[in-house]
Amino acid sequence: MISAVLPTYNRAPLAFVSGEGSWLTAEDGSRYLDLGGGIAVNSLGHANPALVATLADQAGKLWHVSNLYRIPEQERLADMLVEATFADTVFFTNSGTEAAELAIKMARKHFYALGQPERTGIIAFDGAFHGRSTGAIAAAGSEKMVKGFGPLMPGFTHLKWGDHDALRAAITDQTCAVILEPIQGEGGIRVVPDQCLKALRDLCDGTGTLLIFDEVQCGMGRTGRLFAHEWAGVYPDIMMVAKGIGGGFPLGAVLATEGAANGMVAGSHGSTYGGNPLGCAVGAKVMEIVSDPAFLDQVSAKAARFRQGLEGLVAAHPTVFEGVRGLGLILGLKCLAMNTDVVKAGYGEHLLCVPAADNVIRLLPALNIPDVDIVEALARLDRAAVAVETHAG
Ligand SMILES: *Cc1c(COP(=O)(O)O)cnc(C)c1O
Repeated sequence: MISAVLPTYNRAPLAFVSGEGSWLTAEDGSRYLDLGGGIAVNSLGHANPALVATLADQAGKLWHVSNLYRIPEQERLADMLVEATFADTVFFTNSGTEAAELAIKMARKHFYALGQPERTGIIAFDGAFHGRSTGAIAAAGSEKMVKGFGPLMPGFTHLKWGDHDALRAAITDQTCAVILEPIQGEGGIRVVPDQCLKALRDLCDGTGTLLIFDEVQCGMGRTGRLFAHEWAGVYPDIMMVAKGIGGGFPLGAVLATEGAANGMVAGSHGSTYGGNPLGCAVGAKVMEIVSDPAFLDQVSAKAARFRQGLEGLVAAHPTVFEGVRGLGLILGLKCLAMNTDVVKAGYGEHLLCVPAADNVIRLLPALNIPDVDIVEALARLDRAAVAVETHAG
């Protein structure tokens, strides 16, 4: 008999009742060190006092009003994002998937408004993940996500990751945009090298193609800069944000330049919940904390310590781990053992991490994880690796 909850997940037999910082408490009262962070969502840890206070304060005032009216909390967060980034304008969503939908629509509408309605083609890369809507699965194109769901939204071309020549050949006068994650998350913490992003920007500039960055997972301070693309000094025309921006409250956004957003006028897009006062109040508090240069420097310092420890684990367990990937606190351990076995062994040590493609385990801790918790995490990962070795031997 089918479960009351639609069985689309292979769930671990764990349920949590409360959280504090980097720790979660399970139903049986035992504590788990959380390196998954709800998949890069709980950017400031669980039950962060500043976020709890902001949420409670706003909850007592106003939860929801329609976008038929001005929403001051939304305007404030939009101003902060515009101030801190390449963007001139922001649309708020409730998830990354909805951000993907708008990014696709906006790119196509841009050329329609310019009198080039035939420019609808979008180029994406293998290993990409942009969400689960019919548009977003067409963008990512992985067989696992699209199989059985009927005809897909047309117009997407999928290229091998890192194949510059194929990219050059694929951009035609029918292409409207290239979409990619500067660091692939689900795809296995694959960092696009700076020179590739630069070459891609040049290619887009030369052909008038819009560049869309999906920073749903790698953005909002996770790399030690507010957005990952800042490291390369390469800026998109349109960017998707979600996950970390709400610190656990469902919130997403599409950021765009004025030029890219030229086709979006009154009536061309909308959302009932997107940009509600509750979400935007929390998002503004997250933004206030995370965009502080001193906070971002701390992320980099923590990441350096974590990474050094992980390199030590790779050296100590050469049959389990192959190497460390990532940037800042979006870290991956490429495994030689089965990544899912390592994640399971982690559960045995009361440590939570997340599998990704390419036989990688992802470590996406809170950006403010205390140093003692980093030390503890490394010790638990070490014991998990021993457990995997023992099992294999
Ligand atoms: C999680 C994710 C999405 C989808 O976000 P949802 O909030 O789950 O809809 C899109 N792109 C990337 C890179 C993601 O990691």
